[in-house]
Amino acid sequence: MRPIQMVDTQTQYHKIKAEINQVVLDVFESSAFINGRPVQEFASNLSSFIGAKHTITCGNGTDALQIAMMALGLQPGDEVITPSFTYIATTEVIALLKLTPVFVEVDPKTFCVDPVAIEKAITPKTKAIVPVHLYGQAAPMEAILEIASKSNIYVIEDNAQAIGCEYYFKNGSKKKTGTIGHIGTTSFYPSKNLGAFGDGGAIFTNDDSLAVKLKMIANHGQSKRYYHDVVGCNSRLDTIQAAILNIKLKYLDEYAAARRKAADFYDKAFANHQKIKTPFRANYSNHVFHQYTLILEGVERNGLNEFLAKRNIPSMIYYPVPGHKQKMFSQFNTSSQVMPVTDWLTDRVISLPIHTELDEEQLNFITSNVLEFVNQ
Ligand SMILES: *Cc1c(COP(=O)(O)O)cnc(C)c1O
Repeated sequence: MRPIQMVDTQTQYHKIKAEINQVVLDVFESSAFINGRPVQEFASNLSSFIGAKHTITCGNGTDALQIAMMALGLQPGDEVITPSFTYIATTEVIALLKLTPVFVEVDPKTFCVDPVAIEKAITPKTKAIVPVHLYGQAAPMEAILEIASKSNIYVIEDNAQAIGCEYYFKNGSKKKTGTIGHIGTTSFYPSKNLGAFGDGGAIFTNDDSLAVKLKMIANHGQSKRYYHDVVGCNSRLDTIQAAILNIKLKYLDEYAAARRKAADFYDKAFANHQKIKTPFRANYSNHVFHQYTLILEGVERNGLNEFLAKRNIPSMIYYPVPGHKQKMFSQFNTSSQVMPVTDWLTDRVISLPIHTELDEEQLNFITSNVLEFVNQ
């Protein structure tokens, strides 16, 4: 059996090695390492794929969020509503820009932000909501958009874990996540569903004037070279990464299908188990399974993690400390906040290996070992 990894980017590379190597060598030959042709080509291909009018590439998914909040003109003290149950990048940039993070609960079924909790958290200072499409499942965007438009606040979708995910609206129309709010952001960190061979990120919008601002801010606030109109930053997707991503984008739907197939296998193996809750699949979206995350009930979770590790099966807790309990936010006194759903999930979730290269032998080995521990 091939060794089991949380993400197997090496085997994935081997399957498209000739194509990737060629485009990387082409970049070396052109020596256009910054803003070379593949950067614009990738932005344009990604716009078509995701259905966004504008794609602005940048250095990573954290920068993408920061640039989005800067472009919306959010000011120190403005409140930004965000789930506590997410990766730190989402909430860190809020504090970095001296905005105030307002943590709210998630729905324990979808792991995504709960619209009822959002509504309760809105104050006259609320300027934006940052829903996270966690683990590859869309947040309930239709309800979020309704709340946002009623209160006149911005929606920034953190789409780092769900690129390629489709959202189905009640009226029958569909859109890809990242193009539903005012701005969407994503990450090309190597283990993400569309992973580069290094860092990368992108920002999506359908708003022409926002696109201009986003582009300026990502490029030292300049509209014309050496004329700097606003304070910005320096955040670029390099040409080599863009060339690689251009190849991998062609396979993204296939990759999502492979992830779903692995998820189906797990679902079947754990179906109707009293102690294991498999990931809920909301009917308003098609899960792209960035993670395959179980909720365990009456199982010693860390014991399972160690048991699997001894058999060379990695598993992860995403995330062991929710945002509201991170020391980073102590100035906001969030640790005293009561968040029973988030705390409940934090104690019970465990993510199993999921990627595009898992075979049945590996999946069988993983599921039989999980069941052996859970049933003992
Ligand atoms: C990975 C990730 C980010 C940040 O992406 P980087 O490219 O690592 O900066 C932001 N939000 C979420 C939910 C993520 O998973």
